[in-house]
Amino acid sequence: MDPFTAELSPLGKGFPGNGRRHAGLAPSEEKKNMKVGFIGLGQMGRAMAGNLVKAGHEVTVWNRSPGRDEALVAAGAKRAATPAEAAQGDVVMTMLADDKAVEGVVFGENGIADAPALHVGHSTISPALADRLTQAHGGAYVSAPVFGRPPAAEAAKLFVAAAGPEEHLQRCAPLFEAIGQRVFPLGDKPSAANVVKISGNFMIMAAVESLAEAMALAEKSGVERAQLLEVLTGTIFGAPVYANYGAMLVEDRFKPAGFAAPLGLKDMTLVADAAAKARVPMPVLGVVRDHLLDAIANEGEDVDWAGVALAVRRGAGIR
Ligand code: NAP
Repeated sequence: MDPFTAELSPLGKGFPGNGRRHAGLAPSEEKKNMKVGFIGLGQMGRAMAGNLVKAGHEVTVWNRSPGRDEALVAAGAKRAATPAEAAQGDVVMTMLADDKAVEGVVFGENGIADAPALHVGHSTISPALADRLTQAHGGAYVSAPVFGRPPAAEAAKLFVAAAGPEEHLQRCAPLFEAIGQRVFPLGDKPSAANVVKISGNFMIMAAVESLAEAMALAEKSGVERAQLLEVLTGTIFGAPVYANYGAMLVEDRFKPAGFAAPLGLKDMTLVADAAAKARVPMPVLGVVRDHLLDAIANEGEDVDWAGVALAVRRGAGIR
Protein backbone atom coordinates (compact mmCIF):
# COMPACT_ATOMS: atom_id res chain seq x y z
CA MET A 1 0.00 0.00 0.00
CA ASP A 2 1.14 3.50 -0.66
CA PRO A 3 2.41 5.44 2.35
CA PHE A 4 -0.15 8.09 1.77
CA THR A 5 -3.12 5.78 1.46
CA ALA A 6 -2.59 4.23 4.86
CA GLU A 7 -5.66 4.48 7.04
CA LEU A 8 -3.40 4.53 10.06
CA SER A 9 -1.97 7.83 9.04
CA PRO A 10 -2.89 10.33 11.74
CA LEU A 11 -3.50 12.77 8.90
CA GLY A 12 -6.43 10.75 7.64
CA LYS A 13 -8.23 10.20 10.94
CA GLY A 14 -11.19 11.71 12.61
CA PHE A 15 -13.14 13.24 9.79
CA PRO A 16 -16.88 12.85 10.05
CA GLY A 17 -19.24 12.40 7.15
CA ASN A 18 -17.90 10.72 4.06
CA GLY A 19 -14.63 9.80 5.67
CA ARG A 20 -12.71 12.43 3.77
CA ARG A 21 -11.05 15.33 5.44
CA HIS A 22 -10.64 18.74 3.92
CA ALA A 23 -9.05 20.83 6.62
CA GLY A 24 -9.55 24.52 6.20
CA LEU A 25 -11.82 24.33 3.17
CA ALA A 26 -15.54 24.64 3.65
CA PRO A 27 -17.56 21.51 2.86
CA SER A 28 -18.18 21.54 -0.86
CA GLU A 29 -21.88 22.22 -1.05
CA GLU A 30 -21.41 24.38 -4.08
CA LYS A 31 -21.53 23.33 -7.68
CA LYS A 32 -21.10 19.59 -8.00
CA ASN A 33 -21.05 19.20 -11.73
CA MET A 34 -18.28 21.49 -12.82
CA LYS A 35 -16.82 21.73 -16.31
CA VAL A 36 -13.29 20.50 -15.86
CA GLY A 37 -10.45 20.12 -18.32
CA PHE A 38 -7.79 17.54 -17.48
CA ILE A 39 -4.41 17.68 -19.19
CA GLY A 40 -1.87 14.88 -18.77
CA LEU A 41 -3.12 11.33 -18.67
CA GLY A 42 -0.08 9.53 -17.28
CA GLN A 43 -0.23 7.06 -14.41
CA MET A 44 -1.53 9.69 -12.02
CA GLY A 45 -3.59 11.88 -14.34
CA ARG A 46 -5.63 9.01 -15.82
CA ALA A 47 -6.75 7.92 -12.36
CA MET A 48 -7.48 11.46 -11.16
CA ALA A 49 -9.50 12.32 -14.28
CA GLY A 50 -11.40 9.04 -13.88
CA ASN A 51 -12.41 9.99 -10.36
CA LEU A 52 -13.62 13.40 -11.54
CA VAL A 53 -15.83 11.64 -14.11
CA LYS A 54 -17.10 9.26 -11.41
CA ALA A 55 -17.94 12.21 -9.17
CA GLY A 56 -20.24 13.57 -11.89
CA HIS A 57 -18.14 16.40 -13.28
CA GLU A 58 -18.15 17.18 -16.99
CA VAL A 59 -14.58 16.30 -17.90
CA THR A 60 -12.71 17.15 -21.10
CA VAL A 61 -9.30 15.50 -21.46
CA TRP A 62 -6.17 16.13 -23.47
CA ASN A 63 -2.92 14.16 -23.64
CA ARG A 64 0.14 14.67 -25.85
CA SER A 65 0.22 11.05 -27.03
CA PRO A 66 -3.02 9.65 -28.37
CA GLY A 67 -4.66 6.52 -27.00
CA ARG A 68 -4.28 7.20 -23.30
CA ASP A 69 -7.78 8.67 -23.08
CA GLU A 70 -9.79 5.73 -24.41
CA ALA A 71 -11.05 4.36 -21.09
CA LEU A 72 -11.90 7.88 -19.95
CA VAL A 73 -13.84 8.66 -23.11
CA ALA A 74 -15.66 5.34 -22.74
CA ALA A 75 -16.53 6.41 -19.17
CA GLY A 76 -18.04 9.69 -20.40
CA ALA A 77 -15.18 12.18 -20.76
CA LYS A 78 -14.89 14.36 -23.86
CA ARG A 79 -11.71 14.44 -25.93
CA ALA A 80 -10.14 17.85 -26.68
CA ALA A 81 -8.02 18.43 -29.77
CA THR A 82 -5.71 20.93 -28.03
CA PRO A 83 -4.83 21.97 -24.47
CA ALA A 84 -6.66 25.28 -25.03
CA GLU A 85 -9.84 23.40 -26.00
CA ALA A 86 -9.69 21.53 -22.68
CA ALA A 87 -9.47 24.85 -20.82
CA GLN A 88 -12.76 26.47 -21.84
CA GLY A 89 -14.75 25.41 -18.76
CA ASP A 90 -14.57 26.34 -15.05
CA VAL A 91 -11.25 24.77 -14.18
CA VAL A 92 -8.38 23.10 -16.04
CA MET A 93 -6.18 20.69 -14.10
CA THR A 94 -2.70 19.76 -15.27
CA MET A 95 -0.83 16.61 -14.20
CA LEU A 96 2.30 16.55 -16.33
CA ALA A 97 5.78 15.12 -15.95
CA ASP A 98 7.89 18.20 -15.26
CA ASP A 99 8.52 21.93 -15.74
CA LYS A 100 9.20 21.54 -19.46
CA ALA A 101 5.92 19.71 -20.06
CA VAL A 102 3.93 22.30 -18.09
CA GLU A 103 5.64 25.19 -19.91
CA GLY A 104 4.79 23.59 -23.26
CA VAL A 105 1.13 23.09 -22.36
CA VAL A 106 0.72 26.57 -20.90
CA PHE A 107 2.89 28.78 -23.11
CA GLY A 108 3.22 26.64 -26.26
CA GLU A 109 1.03 26.58 -29.34
CA ASN A 110 -2.66 26.20 -28.42
CA GLY A 111 -1.62 26.53 -24.79
CA ILE A 112 -3.81 27.41 -21.82
CA ALA A 113 -2.08 30.67 -20.77
CA ASP A 114 -5.00 32.85 -21.90
CA ALA A 115 -7.81 30.33 -21.55
CA PRO A 116 -10.80 31.24 -19.37
CA ALA A 117 -10.58 28.27 -16.99
CA LEU A 118 -8.85 28.54 -13.61
CA HIS A 119 -5.56 26.64 -13.87
CA VAL A 120 -4.97 24.11 -11.09
CA GLY A 121 -1.48 22.62 -11.33
CA HIS A 122 -1.03 19.18 -9.74
CA SER A 123 2.35 18.33 -11.28
CA THR A 124 5.47 18.31 -9.14
CA ILE A 125 7.20 21.37 -10.58
CA SER A 126 9.64 24.01 -9.37
CA PRO A 127 8.43 26.76 -7.04
CA ALA A 128 9.98 29.16 -9.58
CA LEU A 129 7.68 27.92 -12.36
CA ALA A 130 4.69 28.15 -10.01
CA ASP A 131 5.57 31.82 -9.45
CA ARG A 132 5.79 32.35 -13.21
CA LEU A 133 2.41 30.66 -13.75
CA THR A 134 0.83 32.81 -11.04
CA GLN A 135 1.99 35.90 -12.88
CA ALA A 136 1.08 34.64 -16.34
CA HIS A 137 -2.46 33.73 -15.25
CA GLY A 138 -2.93 37.11 -13.55
CA GLY A 139 -3.33 35.40 -10.17
CA ALA A 140 -5.88 32.85 -11.42
CA TYR A 141 -3.65 29.93 -10.54
CA VAL A 142 -3.69 27.30 -7.80
CA SER A 143 -0.79 24.96 -7.08
CA ALA A 144 -2.13 21.66 -5.81
CA PRO A 145 0.61 19.00 -5.95
CA VAL A 146 -0.37 15.66 -4.46
CA PHE A 147 1.11 13.06 -2.13
CA GLY A 148 0.26 9.46 -2.96
CA ARG A 149 1.22 7.00 -5.66
CA PRO A 150 -0.94 5.62 -8.50
CA PRO A 151 -2.94 3.20 -6.27
CA ALA A 152 -3.83 6.15 -4.01
CA ALA A 153 -4.84 8.16 -7.08
CA GLU A 154 -7.07 5.26 -8.24
CA ALA A 155 -8.68 5.04 -4.81
CA ALA A 156 -9.26 8.83 -4.64
CA LYS A 157 -7.05 8.89 -1.56
CA LEU A 158 -4.49 11.48 -2.53
CA PHE A 159 -3.37 14.17 -0.12
CA VAL A 160 -3.59 17.56 -1.78
CA ALA A 161 -1.23 20.37 -0.75
CA ALA A 162 -3.04 23.44 -2.08
CA ALA A 163 -2.12 27.10 -2.21
CA GLY A 164 -3.62 30.05 -4.01
CA PRO A 165 -6.20 32.80 -3.49
CA GLU A 166 -8.84 31.71 -0.98
CA GLU A 167 -11.78 32.11 -3.39
CA HIS A 168 -10.06 29.86 -5.92
CA LEU A 169 -9.27 27.22 -3.29
CA GLN A 170 -12.92 27.20 -2.26
CA ARG A 171 -13.97 26.80 -5.88
CA CYS A 172 -11.75 23.76 -6.20
CA ALA A 173 -13.10 22.05 -3.05
CA PRO A 174 -15.50 19.67 -4.88
CA LEU A 175 -12.72 18.70 -7.30
CA PHE A 176 -10.21 18.02 -4.55
CA GLU A 177 -12.87 16.01 -2.78
CA ALA A 178 -13.25 13.84 -5.89
CA ILE A 179 -9.53 13.00 -6.10
CA GLY A 180 -8.30 12.99 -2.53
CA GLN A 181 -8.87 12.25 1.11
CA ARG A 182 -7.55 15.48 2.58
CA VAL A 183 -6.58 18.96 1.50
CA PHE A 184 -3.88 20.97 3.25
CA PRO A 185 -4.48 24.66 2.48
CA LEU A 186 -1.12 26.45 2.53
CA GLY A 187 -2.01 30.09 2.06
CA ASP A 188 -2.43 32.34 -0.92
CA LYS A 189 1.00 32.01 -2.54
CA PRO A 190 0.77 29.03 -4.91
CA SER A 191 4.49 28.18 -4.91
CA ALA A 192 4.34 27.43 -1.16
CA ALA A 193 2.55 24.17 -2.04
CA ASN A 194 5.37 23.25 -4.43
CA VAL A 195 7.96 23.86 -1.70
CA VAL A 196 6.03 21.53 0.62
CA LYS A 197 5.74 18.87 -2.08
CA ILE A 198 9.43 18.77 -3.00
CA SER A 199 10.39 18.84 0.68
CA GLY A 200 8.18 15.82 1.27
CA ASN A 201 9.70 13.93 -1.64
CA PHE A 202 13.20 14.69 -0.37
CA MET A 203 12.22 13.22 3.00
CA ILE A 204 10.81 10.07 1.37
CA MET A 205 14.10 9.56 -0.47
CA ALA A 206 16.10 10.18 2.71
CA ALA A 207 13.96 7.62 4.56
CA VAL A 208 14.41 5.01 1.81
CA GLU A 209 18.17 5.68 1.72
CA SER A 210 18.55 5.19 5.48
CA LEU A 211 16.36 2.06 5.43
CA ALA A 212 18.41 0.60 2.60
CA GLU A 213 21.69 1.33 4.40
CA ALA A 214 20.42 -0.26 7.63
CA MET A 215 19.13 -3.27 5.70
CA ALA A 216 22.50 -3.73 3.97
CA LEU A 217 24.21 -3.68 7.36
CA ALA A 218 21.70 -6.17 8.76
CA GLU A 219 21.95 -8.48 5.77
CA LYS A 220 25.74 -8.60 5.81
CA SER A 221 25.60 -9.29 9.53
CA GLY A 222 23.25 -12.25 9.15
CA VAL A 223 19.96 -10.55 10.01
CA GLU A 224 17.15 -10.77 7.47
CA ARG A 225 15.82 -7.52 6.02
CA ALA A 226 12.28 -8.57 6.97
CA GLN A 227 13.31 -9.14 10.60
CA LEU A 228 14.91 -5.72 10.82
CA LEU A 229 11.85 -4.07 9.30
CA GLU A 230 9.49 -5.86 11.66
CA VAL A 231 11.37 -4.58 14.69
CA LEU A 232 11.75 -1.04 13.37
CA THR A 233 8.16 -0.57 12.27
CA GLY A 234 6.89 -2.32 15.43
CA THR A 235 8.74 0.10 17.68
CA ILE A 236 9.37 3.75 16.92
CA PHE A 237 9.48 3.66 13.12
CA GLY A 238 5.81 2.84 12.60
CA ALA A 239 5.28 5.56 10.01
CA PRO A 240 3.69 4.53 6.69
CA VAL A 241 6.77 5.68 4.76
CA TYR A 242 8.94 3.08 6.55
CA ALA A 243 6.31 0.33 6.50
CA ASN A 244 5.45 0.65 2.83
CA TYR A 245 8.83 1.43 1.29
CA GLY A 246 10.35 -1.11 3.71
CA ALA A 247 8.05 -3.79 2.27
CA MET A 248 9.16 -2.84 -1.25
CA LEU A 249 12.80 -3.23 -0.20
CA VAL A 250 12.19 -6.56 1.54
CA GLU A 251 10.29 -7.96 -1.46
CA ASP A 252 12.53 -6.42 -4.15
CA ARG A 253 9.58 -4.63 -5.77
CA PHE A 254 11.38 -2.19 -8.06
CA LYS A 255 9.72 -2.94 -11.41
CA PRO A 256 7.30 -1.97 -12.77
CA ALA A 257 7.84 1.47 -11.29
CA GLY A 258 4.95 3.07 -9.41
CA PHE A 259 7.02 6.25 -9.32
CA ALA A 260 9.81 6.10 -11.86
CA ALA A 261 13.35 6.96 -10.75
CA PRO A 262 13.82 9.64 -13.49
CA LEU A 263 10.83 11.52 -12.02
CA GLY A 264 12.39 11.16 -8.56
CA LEU A 265 15.66 12.51 -9.95
CA LYS A 266 13.74 15.44 -11.42
CA ASP A 267 12.30 16.16 -7.96
CA MET A 268 15.69 15.98 -6.22
CA THR A 269 17.00 18.43 -8.83
CA LEU A 270 14.11 20.77 -8.01
CA VAL A 271 15.08 20.53 -4.34
CA ALA A 272 18.74 21.23 -5.17
CA ASP A 273 17.80 24.32 -7.19
CA ALA A 274 15.47 25.65 -4.49
CA ALA A 275 18.07 24.93 -1.77
CA ALA A 276 20.81 26.74 -3.70
CA LYS A 277 18.52 29.73 -4.18
CA ALA A 278 17.60 29.80 -0.48
CA ARG A 279 21.24 29.13 0.58
CA VAL A 280 20.36 25.94 2.48
CA PRO A 281 23.02 23.21 2.52
CA MET A 282 21.38 19.77 2.15
CA PRO A 283 24.18 17.20 2.24
CA VAL A 284 21.83 14.19 2.40
CA LEU A 285 20.28 15.37 -0.85
CA GLY A 286 23.60 14.87 -2.65
CA VAL A 287 23.74 11.24 -1.51
CA VAL A 288 20.22 10.32 -2.60
CA ARG A 289 20.63 12.13 -5.92
CA ASP A 290 23.76 10.15 -6.74
CA HIS A 291 22.07 6.89 -5.74
CA LEU A 292 19.13 7.69 -8.01
CA LEU A 293 21.58 8.28 -10.86
CA ASP A 294 23.30 4.99 -10.03
CA ALA A 295 19.95 3.14 -10.02
CA ILE A 296 18.91 4.60 -13.38
CA ALA A 297 22.33 3.95 -14.97
CA ASN A 298 22.37 0.35 -13.80
CA GLU A 299 18.70 -0.67 -13.85
CA GLY A 300 17.24 1.47 -16.63
CA GLU A 301 14.77 4.34 -16.84
CA ASP A 302 11.85 2.20 -15.71
CA VAL A 303 13.07 1.38 -12.22
CA ASP A 304 11.09 2.70 -9.22
CA TRP A 305 12.78 5.45 -7.21
CA ALA A 306 12.95 3.00 -4.30
CA GLY A 307 15.67 1.45 -6.52
CA VAL A 308 18.16 3.68 -4.64
CA ALA A 309 18.30 0.60 -2.40
CA LEU A 310 19.92 -1.32 -5.26
CA ALA A 311 22.68 1.30 -5.44
CA VAL A 312 23.19 1.01 -1.68
CA ARG A 313 23.38 -2.79 -1.96
CA ARG A 314 25.88 -2.59 -4.84
CA GLY A 315 28.04 -0.28 -2.73
CA ALA A 316 28.02 -2.90 0.02
CA GLY A 317 28.93 -5.69 -2.38
CA ILE A 318 25.52 -7.35 -2.04
CA ARG A 319 24.37 -8.94 -5.30
P1 NAP B 1 3.78 9.75 -16.19
O1 NAP B 1 2.97 8.51 -16.05
O2 NAP B 1 5.16 9.65 -16.73
O3 NAP B 1 2.94 10.80 -17.06
C1 NAP B 1 3.51 12.00 -17.48
C2 NAP B 1 2.50 12.80 -18.27
O4 NAP B 1 3.13 14.01 -18.74
C3 NAP B 1 1.96 12.08 -19.51
O5 NAP B 1 0.63 12.45 -19.74
C4 NAP B 1 2.87 12.64 -20.61
O6 NAP B 1 2.29 12.57 -21.90
C5 NAP B 1 2.98 14.07 -20.16
N1 NAP B 1 4.12 14.75 -20.76
C6 NAP B 1 5.43 14.51 -20.55
N2 NAP B 1 6.18 15.38 -21.26
C7 NAP B 1 5.31 16.17 -21.93
C8 NAP B 1 5.48 17.28 -22.81
N3 NAP B 1 6.70 17.74 -23.14
N4 NAP B 1 4.36 17.87 -23.29
C9 NAP B 1 3.13 17.41 -22.96
N5 NAP B 1 2.91 16.38 -22.13
C10 NAP B 1 3.99 15.78 -21.61
O7 NAP B 1 3.95 10.50 -14.79
P2 NAP B 1 3.04 10.42 -13.48
O8 NAP B 1 3.56 9.34 -12.60
O9 NAP B 1 1.62 10.44 -13.85
O10 NAP B 1 3.45 11.81 -12.78
C11 NAP B 1 2.91 13.05 -13.22
C12 NAP B 1 3.35 14.14 -12.24
O11 NAP B 1 2.90 13.80 -10.92
C13 NAP B 1 4.87 14.32 -12.13
O12 NAP B 1 5.17 15.67 -11.92
C14 NAP B 1 5.22 13.50 -10.90
O13 NAP B 1 6.42 13.95 -10.31
C15 NAP B 1 4.01 13.74 -10.03
N6 NAP B 1 3.68 12.69 -9.05
C16 NAP B 1 3.80 11.38 -9.37
C17 NAP B 1 3.49 10.42 -8.41
C18 NAP B 1 3.65 8.93 -8.69
O14 NAP B 1 3.75 8.16 -7.72
N7 NAP B 1 3.66 8.49 -9.94
C19 NAP B 1 3.02 10.80 -7.15
C20 NAP B 1 2.86 12.17 -6.88
C21 NAP B 1 3.19 13.11 -7.83
P3 NAP B 1 2.57 11.31 -22.88
O15 NAP B 1 1.49 10.34 -22.59
O16 NAP B 1 2.48 11.93 -24.23
O17 NAP B 1 3.95 10.80 -22.57
